[in-house]
Amino acid sequence: RTVYINGEFFPASDARISVFDRGFLFGDSIYEVTAVIDGKMIDNDLHLGRLERSVDQLDIPMPLSRGKIISVQLELITRNKIVEGLVYLQVTRGTEDRSFDYSSALKPNLVAFTQDKPIKGTNAHRAGVKVAIVEDARWARRDIKTTMLLAQVQAKRHAKAVGCDEAWMVQDGFVTEGASSSAFILTRRNYLVTRPNSAAILPGCTRQAVIEVARQLDFDIEERLFTTEEACAAKEAFLTSATSLVTPVIEIAGHSIGAGQPGPVTRRIQDVYFDIARHF
Ligand code: PLP
Repeated sequence: RTVYINGEFFPASDARISVFDRGFLFGDSIYEVTAVIDGKMIDNDLHLGRLERSVDQLDIPMPLSRGKIISVQLELITRNKIVEGLVYLQVTRGTEDRSFDYSSALKPNLVAFTQDKPIKGTNAHRAGVKVAIVEDARWARRDIKTTMLLAQVQAKRHAKAVGCDEAWMVQDGFVTEGASSSAFILTRRNYLVTRPNSAAILPGCTRQAVIEVARQLDFDIEERLFTTEEACAAKEAFLTSATSLVTPVIEIAGHSIGAGQPGPVTRRIQDVYFDIARHF
């Protein structure tokens, strides 16, 4: 497997980054994940736009132009023969002696690799997944896609321990989002509800693409807060992310959603988004 670091391609076993890298020492770094289906990247413009925003918010210089980053992604997909999977990008503030403050001239590190992963037609897509509820223990700038992911690691661990596939995180009684996904519910009155973008959640690229799909399909969309109780009582629910596309949710905190199986609105959005994604 080939890994990219700062302008060079290495075999994975030779790909190394310093222990003084600020991503390693402070979580001072951001990342992006783009799904690959049939060798093609899905919603990559949205992901690279968000990457640019993340580094901008943290005052980290962009290591490469957008065009050059795309070339690196494509080169890795080709070299690693990725048909279905993902391309991972990480930009860290750079490497220097450990100190909370950083030199303004510090050069960022850019690391990129690929992973094989089934993206379409998974069991989760067909049968749906179960979701656990956990307190949102993250910092206050969740709109920046940082690699400080310990709260999500713990949330996923808890989900698995209680027989679930994902955790939806809750703040002040309101669902923020999944540990690695955006959360949608369909209300009894057939409104598709998802939390509006703010510092409280990551602006999901798939979330945005799916909202556009739902609008085209003439579904009523409400971007507003919703409680755990409202989620548990929803007619349907689903989650979205780059590598899980649209995945039905059939249980939340032990409550069956709808008939306990993927609902028709979820199926429709899933099919249409998948169709669009496949033709990228
Ligand atoms: N929310 C969080 C916290 C995430 O980590 C992710 C993806 O990993 C998402 C939402 C979904 O974002 P996207 O659709 O851009 O993959």
